[in-house]
Amino acid sequence: MKSLWSDQDARTAEARLPNSLGPLVAQRLYTAHLIGSDASLVLHGGGNVSVKASGKNFLGEELEAIYVKASGTDLSHLSSEGLTSLDLQRLRKMRQIESLTDDQLRDAYSLCCLNANAATPSIETLLHAFLQHRFVDHSHADAVLTLTNQLDGHALIKEALGDSVGIIEYIRPGLSLATAVANLCDSQPDLVGVVLMKHGLVTFGPDAQSSYEAHIDIVDRCETFIRQRTKGKSLSVNFTCEQKPDDIVAKIAPTVRGLLSTKSDKIDQLFVRPILEWRHAPEIMQFVNSDRAKVLASASPLTGDHVIRTKSRALFCDVRDWSDIPAAITTITQAIETFRSDYKKYVQEYSPDVVQEDGYPKVMLLPGVGVLCWGDTKLSAGIAADIAEQTLRVKTYASLMGSYEGLTDEHLADMEFRTLQRRKLSDAPRRTLAGQVVAISGGAGAIGVATARCCLEAGAHVALADLNQEALDRAVKHLLAMQREGRVLAVRMDVTDEQSVCDGYAEIVRTFGGVDVIVPNAGVAHVAPIESLDVQQFRRVMDINATGYLTFMQAGIRILKQQGLGGNIIINASKNVFGPGKDFGAYSASKAAGHQLGKVAAIELAPLGIRVNMINADAVFGDQETPSGLWQEVGPQRAKLRDMRSEDLPEYYRSKNLLGAKVTGEHVGRTVVFFASNATPTTGATLPIDGGVVEAFPR
Ligand SMILES: [Zn+2]
Repeated sequence: MKSLWSDQDARTAEARLPNSLGPLVAQRLYTAHLIGSDASLVLHGGGNVSVKASGKNFLGEELEAIYVKASGTDLSHLSSEGLTSLDLQRLRKMRQIESLTDDQLRDAYSLCCLNANAATPSIETLLHAFLQHRFVDHSHADAVLTLTNQLDGHALIKEALGDSVGIIEYIRPGLSLATAVANLCDSQPDLVGVVLMKHGLVTFGPDAQSSYEAHIDIVDRCETFIRQRTKGKSLSVNFTCEQKPDDIVAKIAPTVRGLLSTKSDKIDQLFVRPILEWRHAPEIMQFVNSDRAKVLASASPLTGDHVIRTKSRALFCDVRDWSDIPAAITTITQAIETFRSDYKKYVQEYSPDVVQEDGYPKVMLLPGVGVLCWGDTKLSAGIAADIAEQTLRVKTYASLMGSYEGLTDEHLADMEFRTLQRRKLSDAPRRTLAGQVVAISGGAGAIGVATARCCLEAGAHVALADLNQEALDRAVKHLLAMQREGRVLAVRMDVTDEQSVCDGYAEIVRTFGGVDVIVPNAGVAHVAPIESLDVQQFRRVMDINATGYLTFMQAGIRILKQQGLGGNIIINASKNVFGPGKDFGAYSASKAAGHQLGKVAAIELAPLGIRVNMINADAVFGDQETPSGLWQEVGPQRAKLRDMRSEDLPEYYRSKNLLGAKVTGEHVGRTVVFFASNATPTTGATLPIDGGVVEAFPR
């Protein structure tokens, strides 16, 4: 590892910050970004940094302050708002206190903050405050953990780093750890850093550069030491299989997702469903296929900081034959059940007062497949996956050097359930479609995009399936502008081709783990009187609108059944089903067929808790950004028939309905959200979204 310090960049960072904050804060942010941008040093809100400088209290009095990273903030994007300023002398007086509960510590931090609305400072604030140095950096560097998490970790650290670096045996973060580190540094003022066993590294210095470079130097020495010790060694792979991991994941993920889902206490959400992040880089495959995978996977994590994201253990599913999927599923089911009961025992033993959210694994390792990580959202599953990848890497090197040894269950439970750690997790209320995956065919069209937008706003993960790649790219770009959390997937799909539909769903499953809401919506139209209706054109419309609804539904139903979590099918039918118009025979017949398929599906699928409902919308024209492809196709002819200009059609349709309402894709989207929310026990129903058209009233 090499220092990335650059005088010029440091000066640029200084120039960017307002003068009122001063150069010390600017330097602090600059090296925080250098540390935060290296995943082998910190991950997702891990690690923390501080600087001591002058500050002002609410009376405007100047005092000695410490600016420390706020809890859970990412170092790579740290801004001055992400630094919480506290009264340094008040914090230092806490060194006289013997012990503090988490609640007392949190209250004490609040009372020391210089700003009443400041973000909660890092759990390790006292460690920073008690040290005399102006700059302090703390990371959970891979190389340091590789050495500390060993049976003979202490001796290895000594050998690798010598006497210039202090060592502290594991102590939970908080007052005791801060006092221990400060006492050590006071007694040995020449130390350049302190290694916290099974936790990480602390360095310090009079300026940002010296503290940062001491950090990098120590990590570099650890890396060199590890390289020398593991030269020529690698994990021996003892598992191979002929089945492709892509195919296996597509086959098993929905069943696993069903097993990991729990009943929701909210009546309309029915289940709390996790979202998948699957990782299968060569390094991961080598680990899961190795002879040490089982032992290492079930060993405890690298540092207590990770357990709120990954739980205290990963689950290794010892499947040795992927040619027999039902047998593999049985093995996985049993493994999950065992995990669940072990987890229950672990909580009862070490944190009996904790209300358990669920007892299921967040990280699963499978030979031949890789790592399946699960979270409330794609984002949280991704965080668990990043940590899992780092864990496998460190455990690999640790095991090649000797014997991996992590924290005890007692220490892990302490970190997993302590309130100051739990606060890092979002406690925002679950939105209506949180955890649900919505698949929309014709997803790149006007109604598709508007529906996706509504579902995203309701917290769903959304897969847009469409034949038109260009329109898909445009749609995704548009949706990414409203969220960047990985909740949108574009899938190229031809609904007239069963294989293409199956492949598309397989991609959705590999990305999100399954599907919960199916919205058949892809459609085309053709204008011609029945007498002269071209049979080829009729077949094309039927093929896309009717058969396409069938293919999109049936492939989705198979996944819903596998999950066993019920689900919703919401068919975008048409006002034409009840109120057809002349020259629109092909379209009306195809939509009536789709509508009827929905009714039959409602009867067939009710025993599985799958609801099927229909939306009869009229005249959805889209907007400039996403115009309606259907209206672009048929608009000119419909206008000609009525002796008007195409651009006057929206106004014509608006004036025709009872409410005089303009119907938009968003109206359809809101209806999808309504049905998918299970707010009412409704199936087999048709809801018109047409402003009121008497001849199309459902009957
Ligand atoms: Zn830490």
